[in-house]
Amino acid sequence: MKSWIESANTAEGHFPVLNLPFGVFSRVGEAPRCATAIGDFVLDLAALEDAGLIDAGAGRAVFGEPALNSFMGLGTPAWDSVRSRLTELLAEDGAPDLRSDAALCARALIPAGDVALHLPFSVSEYTDFYAGRQHAQNVGTMFRGPENALPPNWLHIPIGYNGRASTVVVSGTAIRRPLGQTKPAESDAPIFGPCRRLDIELEMGAVVGLPNPFGEPVTVAEADDMIFGYVLLNDWSARDIQAWEYQPLGPFQAKVFATSISPWVVTKAALEPFRVSTPAREKPLLPYLREPGPMLYDVELEVRMQPEEAAAASTISRTNYKHMYYSAAQQLAHHAIGGCRMNNGDLLGSGTISGPEKDQFGSLLELTWGGKEPLTLETGETRTFIEDGDTMTLMGWAQGDDHRIGFGECAGTILPAPTERNW
Ligand code: MN
Repeated sequence: MKSWIESANTAEGHFPVLNLPFGVFSRVGEAPRCATAIGDFVLDLAALEDAGLIDAGAGRAVFGEPALNSFMGLGTPAWDSVRSRLTELLAEDGAPDLRSDAALCARALIPAGDVALHLPFSVSEYTDFYAGRQHAQNVGTMFRGPENALPPNWLHIPIGYNGRASTVVVSGTAIRRPLGQTKPAESDAPIFGPCRRLDIELEMGAVVGLPNPFGEPVTVAEADDMIFGYVLLNDWSARDIQAWEYQPLGPFQAKVFATSISPWVVTKAALEPFRVSTPAREKPLLPYLREPGPMLYDVELEVRMQPEEAAAASTISRTNYKHMYYSAAQQLAHHAIGGCRMNNGDLLGSGTISGPEKDQFGSLLELTWGGKEPLTLETGETRTFIEDGDTMTLMGWAQGDDHRIGFGECAGTILPAPTERNW
């Protein structure tokens, strides 16, 4: 399907008319409001709503708000009806209502380079999982040895920990290197200072639109219906802090300092043609975790690294979301099974996505095998972990026959640690 907006019809662009992700934008001096992305443009959904061209069916305007949460809370019928109306307005042979209104086009279609993109929804809570088999195997081998790499519960439970919603930031936000406590192997006592093994985790984030009532679990199928869409997610990780603190309750300071997400939420409807099943189960799952159909997605992923002085970014990993052992719907159903209320705005990190090959790993910890095998970038620099000034960028898209359903990018540049005081 083509759009009358030419830049939406390229083979490698991220935002064809088949995508229509949702986000929040503003121009300088304006209040943030909701939008979709089409080709090289941002389409102002508040302007379309004001003009009477779209209606989410809430009985009030929802797209003038600075976050998608109200729209996300309306559920599948509203998500689908807005999507099909936008498709009609933007398709080459669709309705003329927007296309023929030059004044509205001038007001609502804004070159993407002229806007700032904001956190697309207000993040109510954030949980991060550990659902990639290869990643769990790799990290377990490095931290505990190959015999104890996979914890005994791993093939039965999507393991997770509760993270911090307060430090989820949008792509482009600079990230300060954290200070913390570590214990070098050669030292008898812990030391304090800037993290020296700063890392990324390549993940997808599932965005929850619909809540479940307190005390009422949901099935995997119901959990899937609660999910509004997906973003790219970088779970920044301080490996030296993590190694010292993580037993017995899991990561704490190692992960709380920042989590970056991409600015566009790609809907389940756009990803529907790319649904795939989770890999074969090595041990049968308990019935409450079994999926009624394919609930993972075939999404190609890349990690790029660019030192401050480098002329270009180097791709250091290529992998795919389809390698995960558990889907977001399974994670959400597991999260709610004991009665936990999941909220509008809940964000679920997939866990680090590492493919089976060495150049498919989703963290520097794995790519450099604990810092023992430095990477040489295309521009000549070598790296084990992230240095100050380095920019890390995640990219993702589902590959169609002649188009991509893109997520855009999720980028962050590392700033030096806070100047040390007399702590
Ligand atoms: Mn993680």
